[in-house]
Amino acid sequence: MDVTRNQRTISAPATVEGVGYWSSRDVRLEFRPAAIDTGIVFVRGDLPGSPRIPATIANRTETPLRTVLRSGAAGVDMIEHVMAAMAGTQVDNCEIWVNQAEMPGCDGSALPFVEALQKAGIVEQSAKRAKLHVRHVTRLGDERSWIEARPSWSGRTVVQYELDYGGGNAIGRQSLEILLSPRFFHLNLAPSRTFMLESEAAALQAQGLGLRTTFQDLLVFDAQGPINNVLRFPDECVRHKIVDIIGDLALAGCDLVGHFVAYRSGHRLNGDLVRAILAEGEAGQTPLKRCA
Ligand SMILES: [Zn+2]
Repeated sequence: MDVTRNQRTISAPATVEGVGYWSSRDVRLEFRPAAIDTGIVFVRGDLPGSPRIPATIANRTETPLRTVLRSGAAGVDMIEHVMAAMAGTQVDNCEIWVNQAEMPGCDGSALPFVEALQKAGIVEQSAKRAKLHVRHVTRLGDERSWIEARPSWSGRTVVQYELDYGGGNAIGRQSLEILLSPRFFHLNLAPSRTFMLESEAAALQAQGLGLRTTFQDLLVFDAQGPINNVLRFPDECVRHKIVDIIGDLALAGCDLVGHFVAYRSGHRLNGDLVRAILAEGEAGQTPLKRCA
């Protein structure tokens, strides 16, 4: 049943510390409670004046392989797993204070962020959460990679992903369709980790990136499987791609109710889809409150 829910925040601050995958820098992240209609706002506590960077699609800056936000001179980097944790646990209003641009990589999953939010306690607020129903079919991309938004006949959000790494490696093809709920997200999606092929990891390290990242910090696959690591789910890779989509769709700033189908899509296409859905929403309906 499609019940309009109340906005939520956390009842106390919570911290996550770690190392940025790309920057190799130590970072401390603190989730703080926030008032109704604040949305998710990153705050660069390390910069003069503590600049605020709202997590909206308008602040998204295209960067390969990850999601980056920028507002004025300040930016935050690799936010997609943090945003997936916010959307997956339905924490709508939160300030996220950081002392570096890049979020902690942790184990490559959204789980450390989900656990920190759950430990702090998630509380309802006395205002409704804006939501936007997908009314039309919108498809972006080409035959190599695409993403599509369709109306959801159940009134629930469904995400379907097909991963295709071709042959000759241990990732191969995986597909999964999920019905999104906080409990399902916590148990079945949040633990799934970032992954790449050994050749991709070597190319990044040759550029001086990920120098403090080990085979235990994410999944690196050779022809046999993950190197020095054990899968948490047989289809962990496709689960992680769904986590990335959930994090990217969260930049809408409201609940998107739709059936999302993707084939090999990445952060750029996911972000473009959010823009297209918001444009359609503004033209066709009045949400409870304007989305981002
Ligand atoms: Zn990811």
